[in-house]
Amino acid sequence: MANIVLFGPPGAGKGTQANNLVNEFNLFKVSVGDLLRDKIKKKSQLGAKIKSIIDQGLFVKDNIINDLIESILSNKGYFNRLIFDGYPRNFNQARHLDILIKKYNQKISCVFSLKVDQDVIIKRIIGRQVCSRCGLIFNEFFNPSTKENHHCDIRFLQKRSDDNEKIARNRFERYTEETLPVLDYYQNQNLLYEIDGTSHIHEINKEIRRIIHSLET
Ligand SMILES: [Zn+2]
Repeated sequence: MANIVLFGPPGAGKGTQANNLVNEFNLFKVSVGDLLRDKIKKKSQLGAKIKSIIDQGLFVKDNIINDLIESILSNKGYFNRLIFDGYPRNFNQARHLDILIKKYNQKISCVFSLKVDQDVIIKRIIGRQVCSRCGLIFNEFFNPSTKENHHCDIRFLQKRSDDNEKIARNRFERYTEETLPVLDYYQNQNLLYEIDGTSHIHEINKEIRRIIHSLET
């Protein structure tokens, strides 16, 4: 067992899977978003710089992210026990991660990619309804509110505004564009496992665990 990389488009439930694996295999989750927020909280010079980049709506440069990743990989407490969630995001980051992995004598044991069609993701996002009275969450496509599962009046069901569809589509397309070369890169190293991300959360988790265990023997 060594480090794991997890990919999935926004809305694919990647965060949930990562958290489950953290608990099941005693891993440490590496999320760039968390690392950046941590830095900002610490009020260092770098933290202030990162804050100003994010406040301007700009992307944090690869070199800053790579340094943050190195600070984790160089920590012996996490040796070969990392799960990368949403990193590497592009080909250059993947190349750099390999350099760091080598430098600190570690390995990537497998790379998982949750596959979910764009239409399913969009429906998950735009079909989401929250009952303002009881707080239950429904989805008008996948899990609609009915007389059996919900007792409030349907006028309490609230949806987010329509422009979310456009934002969701853009995010999905950007993910696909950036991630495909990275997935190819791992495919060429025989590290990539594609998982059906439309299955039930528990089924996905079972499949991922099965693969991890199969690598250990
Ligand atoms: Zn309700």
